[in-house]
Amino acid sequence: MLRKRFARAGGRGLFGDMENTSQLRAVSRRRFAATLATAVCLAPVILGGAGCSDKTPPPSQPGGIYTFKLGDATLSVLPDRQQRITNKLLIGATPAILEKYAPDGSVPNAINAFLIQSGGKNTLVDTGLGTKVFDNLKTLGLAPEDITNVFITHMHGDHIGGLLRDGKAAFPNATLHIAHPEIVYWLAKEGSPAKEISAAYKGQTVLFNPVAPEAAGRSLPGVTAIAAFGHTPGHTVFRIESAGKRLLIWGDLTHATAVQLPHPEVAVTYDVDPARAVVSRKQIFEYAAKNKIAIAGMHIAWPGTGTIAAAPQGGFAFTPAT
Ligand SMILES: [Zn+2]
Repeated sequence: MLRKRFARAGGRGLFGDMENTSQLRAVSRRRFAATLATAVCLAPVILGGAGCSDKTPPPSQPGGIYTFKLGDATLSVLPDRQQRITNKLLIGATPAILEKYAPDGSVPNAINAFLIQSGGKNTLVDTGLGTKVFDNLKTLGLAPEDITNVFITHMHGDHIGGLLRDGKAAFPNATLHIAHPEIVYWLAKEGSPAKEISAAYKGQTVLFNPVAPEAAGRSLPGVTAIAAFGHTPGHTVFRIESAGKRLLIWGDLTHATAVQLPHPEVAVTYDVDPARAVVSRKQIFEYAAKNKIAIAGMHIAWPGTGTIAAAPQGGFAFTPAT
């Protein structure tokens, strides 16, 4: 049986002290290397006993790991791959919309997981397909044992693929955080690995109930789990906060960013409840744009993060981080 715990509001942040006010910014190649080198030297225990290392990690390159700062936290987009998806997956896109935003019959897409490092914690948000996440962590000097928390946006295979290895918890020291309605849905589904995952992470799983975007207080320290149901019954957007800076990691709120930003009414065949997914998408878009909160997504092509704003002609426009 999974341990159910509703986290308390307030308290010390998951990512440690939140005093700094530095802006969300991409880390330059030199700074990226320096940041990691410093982290390895100052925190060998946190980073798995690597000790001070002369090895310079590869710089952030198009399609590769993309690292940036959010307040005191260091975030990395961990791509499994960059790809394009066919327009045939879109629901409710008119010929005029497709002609304008996806004229060649497909749109850019990716499969990403995210790593958040701060306050001695190494937190994953989703695990991708499980094909690349371990290599990506290794590139950053981390072993699976170094991961302290894993947050799951929802339980589709391209998000939970890295949770198990040979039927065992791939992140043996991590607390696994999943929305209560999400695990309930998948535990009742034939063929889902939810039962196996529950067994593997027994005693180290925390279930939470996502809240409305404007709800006061945090549902989890340092992280607010926001309800964005529709894609799946417990689909969750995580609002990450550090030193007064905020970022929404919005899971599968978009699969076809090029089409769904200007036209949030377009759904995808992967949505369990497309109509509800549209309502959630519009709500989160409006919330992010109004409050100028940066966003990141599991299916946004490299670099996988940026900002959105209401577009004069209606809908929203996405500006990738640089
Ligand atoms: Zn997905």
